Amino acid sequence: MYDPKSLKASEFIDHQEVLATLSFAAQRSSDPVVIRDILAKARARQGLNHREALVLLDCQLEDLNQELFDLARQIKKDFYGQRIVMFAPLYLSNYCVNGCLYCPYHSKNKNIARRKLSMEDIVREVTALQDIGHKRLALEAGEHPKLNPLEYILEAIQTVYSIKHKNGAIRRVNVNIAATTVEDYRRLREAGIGTYILFQETYHPESYARLHPTGPKHDYDWHTTAMDRAMEGGIDDVGLGVLFGLEGYRYELAALLMHGEHLEATHGVGPHTISVPRLREADDINPEEFGHGISDDIFAKIVAIARVAVPYTGLIVSTRESAQSRARVLDLGVSQISGGSRTSVGGYYEPEEENTTQFEVNDNRSLDEVILWLMKLGHIPSFCTACYREGRTGDRFMALCKSGKIQNCCHPNALMTLKEYLEDYASPQTAALGDSLIASQINEVPNPKVRDLVIQRLAAISEGQRDFRL
Ligand code: SAM
Repeated sequence: MYDPKSLKASEFIDHQEVLATLSFAAQRSSDPVVIRDILAKARARQGLNHREALVLLDCQLEDLNQELFDLARQIKKDFYGQRIVMFAPLYLSNYCVNGCLYCPYHSKNKNIARRKLSMEDIVREVTALQDIGHKRLALEAGEHPKLNPLEYILEAIQTVYSIKHKNGAIRRVNVNIAATTVEDYRRLREAGIGTYILFQETYHPESYARLHPTGPKHDYDWHTTAMDRAMEGGIDDVGLGVLFGLEGYRYELAALLMHGEHLEATHGVGPHTISVPRLREADDINPEEFGHGISDDIFAKIVAIARVAVPYTGLIVSTRESAQSRARVLDLGVSQISGGSRTSVGGYYEPEEENTTQFEVNDNRSLDEVILWLMKLGHIPSFCTACYREGRTGDRFMALCKSGKIQNCCHPNALMTLKEYLEDYASPQTAALGDSLIASQINEVPNPKVRDLVIQRLAAISEGQRDFRL
């Protein structure tokens, strides 16, 4: 029986089950009958469990791997259309009491400058973010109970939401901070956060303990059961992720899917998003020393499998990936990307100021360049945040997704928020391409009444009206 107070990670990430899954998959990796059955289940949009997903991950048969990639592309198209939701990280503070071996913010690192944004700094950062066109942020902070207490994060959220600069506004604030208590999660929910994001880093208990030698993050159980507490605290949308490169990718993918299965079984709703960060070079961090780097091919296969295994879960890729790698996985199932990101504290207002960077980004383009590139590749960049404001979160969001009805709002909202971006922030080249893309996409809105409304609203946006509900 689920009891949030005594819950142990091993109740849902059973190490023996992960190992059994890996040998189950290895034994079936060249069995076309089993693999075809699994693909048929995925094709029926029923999702896959961790064992089935791992068989696909190990599959050695080229024609069936090709079928997997084709299916991932198709599911992406059917569920998300051409839309790609845009966001940016905002680093609040790099003070941290943890000793994570892969992160330059670890407490022993004396090379980097330590910095925490004041509320005035946040106003400057958010104004700079609004000036490039962002509407959705992910707040990031190291774990430091004295310098970055929850009160500081809550005040930061309030400040972010309060800034209305020209036509800009941050309409959704997601939060990526250390595991905390049910009470703190309740306060985050009351502050109006969108998704609570927490990467597991690695699900392998022994590796986790070795990679997190000191600090509160050392506690594997506390970290791994955080999403249960977040959901207890009323946060509907939680975002999972592992940091690929720390441990074997097969172990990580199996356990990540088991985590999602547990949330769905226990709380009635699976993860809202899954992030797939890969370990990057950083101040005193060399990814090669961790010995588990994955190739671009394996990375693409992981994304394709996640797409078919959990079709209703958004997939997020950050600027840790190069433009080339991002282009490939966008087709295979990624639904949300960051653009124009700075991974330093204060980096939007003062890009070259101090060395406070968390990791080297692999995609240095401006948001406008990313938007132009996305459209040239046939995607529709979306700045929409309406689901969250309309209460379409958690199981209500999932139910809409599953019924297919979400297409009636997401596609028009994507076009309208893109139009707002084009009017307010785009370069002439991006604006010209965007306008012709929108013109060609209006006919794709299936309901004629909705189509007429969209045409009217697009005209109103051209005349300067903005819709803060989107
Ligand atoms: N402090 C929060 C916590 O304890 O989970 C999270 C905030 S941290 C700024 C966000 C994420 O960056 C981490 O969860 C980790 O996965 C990732 N990260 C840390 N070092 C990294 C590196 N060298 N390369 C890529 N990503 C890294």
